[in-house]
Amino acid sequence: MLTVRHHDQVRELILTTRLTRAVRFRVSAFVCRGFLIDTGFPRVRSELLAYLEREPVQGAIVTHWHEDHAGNVTALAERGVPVVVSEETLRAHRAMPTVPPYRWAIWGHPRPGSIVPRSSEHPFTLVPTPGHTDDHIAVWDAETRTLFSGDLFLGVKASFVHAEESVAALIASLERVAALGPERMFDAHRGLVDRPVAALRAKIEWLEKTASAVRTALANGVPEGAIVAKLLGGEAPVAFFSLGQVSRRNFVRVIRADARAGVRSP
Ligand SMILES: [Zn+2]
Repeated sequence: MLTVRHHDQVRELILTTRLTRAVRFRVSAFVCRGFLIDTGFPRVRSELLAYLEREPVQGAIVTHWHEDHAGNVTALAERGVPVVVSEETLRAHRAMPTVPPYRWAIWGHPRPGSIVPRSSEHPFTLVPTPGHTDDHIAVWDAETRTLFSGDLFLGVKASFVHAEESVAALIASLERVAALGPERMFDAHRGLVDRPVAALRAKIEWLEKTASAVRTALANGVPEGAIVAKLLGGEAPVAFFSLGQVSRRNFVRVIRADARAGVRSP
């Protein structure tokens, strides 16, 4: 299902299926200044393509390789829509060997494709914002001081992460976009975020405080499960249906990995 919400000159395309609504997941793509920002997930491909038939765009920009953002890159490229996507994003997206079962059930499997998307001139600044994934970018519209943050924010205390994320990199990326002073911010899973700079700062503060407490607990030999229970409020429901792919335990593990790699948040 595709539901359009208008925010002045920005159109939010809220993409859901019966299953995503049942598990309270949703993902949004956005249309701003004639460009589609993110392409949604494979299970909404036909709705998205039908919408773009009625409301054509000049091009599309992809924030990162995950299938709920890059999931329709191939379908758009096949229809001649210029897609701004980094080589790293395209490679990671297409190299995805098999989507884990829960992700397949929710988002569907991206269609493999060999079409190389045509790039396009666009009016935005693409800000590298690694952390959630290495290839992640945020899309900054300086003219309207609007930030499309992809999966960079996801909530102040969002602590369920994939094993390959980096909290230290995430903090640096949050600092980078907070410094831009956005007046509006659109999160790919939460939509419009009120008072974005305050929200970004609150997230940075929470991550630094929590990462520091996790490091101390790890140094004192506290088991991961106990850290999750004590510092993160217990495991997130998503951990159970993702079979541990996305979890708060991973949050503890990536902080351990950051510390081992010598990367520390300030
Ligand atoms: Zn993502």
